[in-house]
Amino acid sequence: MQPFTYVRPDTLEQALHEAAEPGASVLAGGTTMVDLMRGDLAAPRRVVDIGHLPGLSEIDLSGPVLRFGALARMADAAEDAALKRDYPALAESLQLAASQQLRNAATLGGNLLQRTRCPYFRNGVSACNKRVPGSGCSALDGEDREMALFGISDACVANYPGDWGTALAAFDTAVEIRSAAASRTVPLANFHVAYGDDPARETVLEQGEIVTAITVRATPAGRGSTYAKVRDRQSYAYALVSAAVALEMDGDTVASARVSLGGVASKPWRSAEAEAVLTGATLTEAAGLRAGEAAFAGARPGRHNAFKVELGRRVVARAALTASRRA
Ligand SMILES: Cc1cc2nc3c(=O)[nH]c(=O)nc-3n(C[C@H](O)[C@H](O)[C@H](O)COP(=O)(O)OP(=O)(O)OC[C@H]3O[C@@H](n4cnc5c(N)ncnc54)[C@H](O)[C@@H]3O)c2cc1C
Repeated sequence: MQPFTYVRPDTLEQALHEAAEPGASVLAGGTTMVDLMRGDLAAPRRVVDIGHLPGLSEIDLSGPVLRFGALARMADAAEDAALKRDYPALAESLQLAASQQLRNAATLGGNLLQRTRCPYFRNGVSACNKRVPGSGCSALDGEDREMALFGISDACVANYPGDWGTALAAFDTAVEIRSAAASRTVPLANFHVAYGDDPARETVLEQGEIVTAITVRATPAGRGSTYAKVRDRQSYAYALVSAAVALEMDGDTVASARVSLGGVASKPWRSAEAEAVLTGATLTEAAGLRAGEAAFAGARPGRHNAFKVELGRRVVARAALTASRRA
């Protein structure tokens, strides 16, 4: 680990000032950041600890826009009774993520911003365009079982690992961002950068910017939502494939559908193809599978991850059926 200066500002304004310094990085719960620093994958000269800042941990579900403070703990949102009732997909994505200890420490903003778990990026020595731009991508000829099927290129096939971001992608979500000079709100769809387009960049955040909140437009489809996750172990493991589905039903017919995919893409991945198949359909198992087929029709499997296509079709179908029962 490189030597660094640790600062713990008392206010957001001070933190924004500190974060604007060249070489500064923000630390929230630290569950990803400390690992990255230990592995020399992040070498900030200045670590700005924002984990305790006041006013950024509230969860407010009362208005037409749900508001999640960036420093709210994953565990608090996962166990929020109103979120579990009205937006089960969001609560489930957190319940199924990491472990209870990690969820107690980790923040919602940090979860959204976590970096890929690609072993070739994390090992610090393999060719990796994300770690060392221009060095190549070892996963192309290596072990690609966990790599992505969407949003990839010959430059990078890594997977975005977050469950919360995947579930948020099934809703009208935006990310509120502050810097010392300005504030801006970015739709979630534009917040992450597909690794295949630019491996070295993961989000549109600039030096000195801090995420202050995540907002979701309230929708009745929240109650008809679910997050399905398939992984190698029953707990404490990232998604091989996951899907969030949010439906509004008109009797037996799907009036509106939102579908997003995780474990298979280099950013939270909304599937307009699956949504088009579901909308207007009567939801049977066959219709769910047709939606799954549409979702994965454009997949680009590598040498060892084609199994995710079939698995993914079934995960989408299962999630659609669960969502329709809830709706
Ligand atoms: C063993 C293990 C298993 C895991 N399993 C899962 C899983 O199954 N599913 C899943 O989704 N996640 C999983 N995770 C990831 C975990 O959820 C994240 O580490 C956590 O959510 C990160 O939040 P944090 O507050 O600790 O972020 P930090 O580690 O503090 O920060 C993470 C990154 O975000 C930046 N950052 C944090 N907050 C802000 C902010 N407000 N504004 C700007 N930048 C910010 C930091 O600079 C850093 O780059 C796992 C982690 C571990 C270690």
